[in-house]
Amino acid sequence: MIKTMLFLLDGVGDRGQPSLGGLTPLQAAHCPNLDRIAKAGETGLMVPFKPGIPLGTDQAHYLLFGYEPEEYPGRAVIDAIGENLSLAAEDIILRTSWATVAHESGRLEEKTIGSFVIRERFTPGIGIKEAQTLARALPKEFGGVRAEWYFSHDSHGFLILRNCIQRFDPQVSDTDPFYEGQRVMACTPFETTGEKAQALAKWINQYLLETYRRLSEHPLNKERQAAGALPGNFLLTKWAGRLGLPEAFHLRNGMRGAVVGSSKLLKGVAASLQMDYYECGDYEEAIKLGHQLDYDYIHIHTKAPDTAAHTKRPQEKVRVLEALDRAFASLKVNEGYLYIITGDHSTASSGTLIHSGESVPVVFLGDMTRRDLGDAFDEAACGQGTHRITAGDLMPIVLNLTDRAKLYHLRAGGKRRLYRAMHVAPLTDE
Ligand SMILES: [Zn+2]
Repeated sequence: MIKTMLFLLDGVGDRGQPSLGGLTPLQAAHCPNLDRIAKAGETGLMVPFKPGIPLGTDQAHYLLFGYEPEEYPGRAVIDAIGENLSLAAEDIILRTSWATVAHESGRLEEKTIGSFVIRERFTPGIGIKEAQTLARALPKEFGGVRAEWYFSHDSHGFLILRNCIQRFDPQVSDTDPFYEGQRVMACTPFETTGEKAQALAKWINQYLLETYRRLSEHPLNKERQAAGALPGNFLLTKWAGRLGLPEAFHLRNGMRGAVVGSSKLLKGVAASLQMDYYECGDYEEAIKLGHQLDYDYIHIHTKAPDTAAHTKRPQEKVRVLEALDRAFASLKVNEGYLYIITGDHSTASSGTLIHSGESVPVVFLGDMTRRDLGDAFDEAACGQGTHRITAGDLMPIVLNLTDRAKLYHLRAGGKRRLYRAMHVAPLTDE
């Protein structure tokens, strides 16, 4: 059967950039190979979820892989899987970062109250040694819950609350405001009024206040301040979740799937959906490796365009796209493959957004695809093409173009599948 190879250029979509004469970085870049593939293939625009709504890479991948937004277990869980942390179904996990805050008092509703103004969301100069020293001051047991902290990288870590799912629901908000110029946010139940979420939010708020008290008196922080460095005096939290993973990729899509990439996040996404993961940093090598693998669906990821866009220098993104284009020099219509080139989301290389909500170009190329009016790989040219889709439309299109699709009304097994089911129990005479 035909294999699918999807080339995922992370954060490839962008906005028109004044410094590029109003063109997007893809439009401004000289990418003859990507353009040749777009010209030969079936093109269009894809939004990850809904127009204007930016997504993170991991959730965008869940949607691309055929899962509903509600099936996404949260970034903390995905990161923990990617970093091989041991997590039980009864645990709750949060992402943390060491931050620098200033305690400020102000008047609110006739009362004087204190709040925490964020100086740095990630305290500079905190490595594994400093983080572990500070972490020893965190309460190990708090309000009857065992709390374990694990180092991740730089100022980032994990907080795991062991065996507490009877008491708590992880549907709670972040205390990390993410965007600049804000205060530490109070943790509240998120999209629920449930008692268990209220209990966890209250626990987190109290834990963080106690943690702040301990950290602001910590000898390491005093030492850092004496030497003119910022103290890591707050532990910001976000992305509370629990281990609750959806069905595997091969069950959802009827294809054995693999991811080739060079990121712990993609490794975590792959592992969470029982897809095999292959580490490969060089994109040209990754494309070669992909052609040697025996899977029905091979996903080849590069973070390079997203990383370039985060520098907020459009010209840097242009440079990175032109370098990536060279990896596609030898790719042409191959009767054994359906090739797809697209992104998971747009990352605007100007402005204050982290990711942005514009569509991304998408190209399908195989000897079964239509040749349409899209004649280059960029947001405007692909807009001349066939498709206006969301990420959730991608897998049905793959199943169709690789002759795996099934008539929608047919009832094969106990669950509706979009592919001709191979997992349905046969009738036996036992
Ligand atoms: Zn990004």
